[in-house]
Amino acid sequence: MRSKPTGSPSNRNDPSSPGSTIGILGGGQLGRMIALAAAQLGYRCHIFCPETDGPASHVAARTINGDFDDEAALRAFAQGVDIVTYEFENVPAATARLLAEIVPVAPSARALEVAQDRIVEKSFVKDLGCGVPAFRAVSSLEDLEAAVAEIGTPAILKTRRFGYDGKGQARLMTPEDMVGAWDAIGGNPAILEAMVPFDGEVSVLVARGWDGRMVHYGPVHNIHKNGILDISRVPAPFSEQLAANAVATAEKIASALDYVGVLGVELFVVGEDVLFNEMAPRVHNSGHWTTEGAVTSQFENHVRAICGLPLGATDPLGHVEMRNLIGDDANQWQELLADPNLHVHLYGKREARPGRKMGHTTRVTRA
Ligand code: AMP
Repeated sequence: MRSKPTGSPSNRNDPSSPGSTIGILGGGQLGRMIALAAAQLGYRCHIFCPETDGPASHVAARTINGDFDDEAALRAFAQGVDIVTYEFENVPAATARLLAEIVPVAPSARALEVAQDRIVEKSFVKDLGCGVPAFRAVSSLEDLEAAVAEIGTPAILKTRRFGYDGKGQARLMTPEDMVGAWDAIGGNPAILEAMVPFDGEVSVLVARGWDGRMVHYGPVHNIHKNGILDISRVPAPFSEQLAANAVATAEKIASALDYVGVLGVELFVVGEDVLFNEMAPRVHNSGHWTTEGAVTSQFENHVRAICGLPLGATDPLGHVEMRNLIGDDANQWQELLADPNLHVHLYGKREARPGRKMGHTTRVTRA
């Protein structure tokens, strides 16, 4: 179990006292929603990110702009905060390690490392005894041929690193698709996975404190469009047994990583079983419904967990549906706001590029 941050060295506050400062690596909408929840509990947030005018910076006390390998800027950022967390999973593990020499960091650099590489991630989860799709590491076209011979088709080829929202992926319906798929992912180090004929996709969000205590949300039923999350619904329309399996898998992963904070775990539903797809060492899009739809939001519980505060109850307040506003969807804000029962979130991004997450809506139907 990791020891709770104490606030040493001398000029640092104990992050469990309100008035402390949380440092967030990454400047996107997840940072924005963490900062809003933190403010409610009396915290200030400082953002570290390369971009100016990001969604998180609009609601934070301070932003330090720098690249994630800019040691001087990172040190300056660390001096001004009492605890560091991330809203972006591609923060280099070396950045987290450097900061951890100066200030407590949660989740740990190890959690980042495991989640950033699909082979490391799937091997880690498989070694815990959890179900994963059949997979092989692929570094060349010859490897791909051998992997297809073993796994068969249909299959899905994904880059090992830096993939998100279906990017860096190619489907192989037959072995003839091999060369095209390899080219489509730029010939980068990859993983070949068997295509899972799933009955649905769910996620579980676990919040785990420094003392190892856990609470969870979900399973959440997730529907994707073009590889991007479209709709999340709670309760998920699956059996209690399935729900128990999903939660057990997520909790096992969080415990094995000695994780502190909110961890998002995405799973495929196959009958009563779950197969692990991927994890995100941060708050997760499939947990946005919790802001209005649960007793305590995932963002507040992330703050509570990393700051060493007691975790809040996670019970849903009814049937809840979250829909992402992608690209031009956000232009309908006037019609959306005309529905008095819809909670509308806009992230303050100036340009609505296709595929860009611009906001979301949440509807809570009380039971
Ligand atoms: P990922 O970025 O790995 O979450 O993949 C994006 C989406 O592609 C997932 O949410 C699934 O809908 C689909 N997908 C990914 N991997 C597989 C797989 N092994 N079998 C079937 N569908 C998959």
